[in-house]
Amino acid sequence: MFAFENTYARDLEGLYAHATPRVPAEPSLVLLNTELAAELRLDAATLQERGAAWLSGAELPEGSRPIAQAYAGHQFGHLNPYMGDGRAVLLGELLDRDGHRRDVQLKGAGRTPFSRGGDGKAALGPMLREYLMGEAMHGLGIPTTRALSVVATGEPVYRETPLPGAVLARVAASHLRVGTFEFFAIRRDQESLTRLLGYTLRRHYPQHLEDPAPAVALFRAVRDATARLAAQWMSVGFIHGVLNTDNTTLSGETIDYGPCAFLDAHIPSTVFSSIDRAGRYAYGNQPGILHWNLSRFARALLSLVHEDPEAAVGALQPELDAYLDVYTAERLAAMRPKLGLHRVEAEDEALVDALETLMEEAGADHTLTFRHLSDHLRGTPGRVQHVLGEGARATEWLRLWRARVEADDDRPLEERADAMDRVNPLYIPRNHRIEAALEAAEGGDFGPTHTLLGLFSDPYSPQDGREEYSLPATPEFTSCYRTFCGT
Ligand code: AMP
Ligand code: MG
Repeated sequence: MFAFENTYARDLEGLYAHATPRVPAEPSLVLLNTELAAELRLDAATLQERGAAWLSGAELPEGSRPIAQAYAGHQFGHLNPYMGDGRAVLLGELLDRDGHRRDVQLKGAGRTPFSRGGDGKAALGPMLREYLMGEAMHGLGIPTTRALSVVATGEPVYRETPLPGAVLARVAASHLRVGTFEFFAIRRDQESLTRLLGYTLRRHYPQHLEDPAPAVALFRAVRDATARLAAQWMSVGFIHGVLNTDNTTLSGETIDYGPCAFLDAHIPSTVFSSIDRAGRYAYGNQPGILHWNLSRFARALLSLVHEDPEAAVGALQPELDAYLDVYTAERLAAMRPKLGLHRVEAEDEALVDALETLMEEAGADHTLTFRHLSDHLRGTPGRVQHVLGEGARATEWLRLWRARVEADDDRPLEERADAMDRVNPLYIPRNHRIEAALEAAEGGDFGPTHTLLGLFSDPYSPQDGREEYSLPATPEFTSCYRTFCGT
């Protein structure tokens, strides 16, 4: 059934530890992603039957060579030289129906050689959260790891209180991260770094394998993918919450849904994570934090660029500095269609900046503001004017924007408004809806989870009877809302 390949285990000996998933007491399959299963060429009916065993660690699927990967990371700016998969086991890789190699990893499958004091386990709530958030991101067209399944273990995990335990099967383009290179750079392990460079290029950026300066080419490719991801997160109001270098992939996929959340009001200082007391990972800081994470990546690559550190810095520094321009270009590329614009104009950045300032000042709901802009084109200007406030600057911005749209091309405005609605979501994971779904699931009712998954699979089209799912939580809920790491 699984045609596992194990290239990481095969090619990167010494960069991981063997790890056997633990056998849970009473595994039962609670969520199966049949769409993703099909993508991975797995038979959903067989998974319904055997998935509880295969996707929990109870039974090792044929062909799997389970390992825990080594990595380091900068956590909240501080180097942790020894992290690694402390509660995740890579089963192997599958080639999906497009020929792309995808990792299948069990998260919460027990202790590994990297677990240190941790129990290697996961609770049901955070695993469902990861499943929901990943599907929402996928529905929004943003690169992300996805969950194939959640299996309840039938055992408690002990946090502040006993919680139902679960194992999530995570599918990723790979689990290579900035922290993977950091691990070997800190140890000055040139041989491992060299193998890692080759592996990463082969897996994600094969077009650069023959580049005369492969480490610089890799850096540039990761920089571009990271800048694009940052722009996409910002465009939908996503806050990752723990943007440490071990949670920054080299593939450009969103990974590690812990205390993440979407913001309601467009306020850059918004933080929901209970552990982010200084607001390092606030919504508005994310593009800059990813730049900083890339600087850690550049540092880890130095010895692969040139044996003379000065020459290596000389080659990488301009590539790192170019991040801001790449990010700005990606940001505008993400924002133009949201504003109904095609043509690139010199004043685009000022137009977007001014809108965001207005949204911040008015505390406008990020998601709904863009839906109300398309209403403006359909002849209902009152809604967006209401959310942006009746002030002169809001009125002036709307006038400028509308003039820009009308000059942009000559399709009917109605058609342009519809095109905007196909890129501006109506349904995002609203914090109160996620919490309600998790609470119901912990009580055995997965109905609300399935309702949300139905909305996230097509977040752009209004669904009958689901109007209230497009609305933000009350300000009282939002001001008290805290998310937790779920470890
Ligand atoms: P995360 O917050 O999921 O990015 O995890 C940060 C680090 O802590 C990684 O090295 C994890 O493998 C490790 N970790 C998180 N939770 C646990 C746990 N329950 N047991 C062991 N290690 C853990
Ligand atoms: Mg992590």
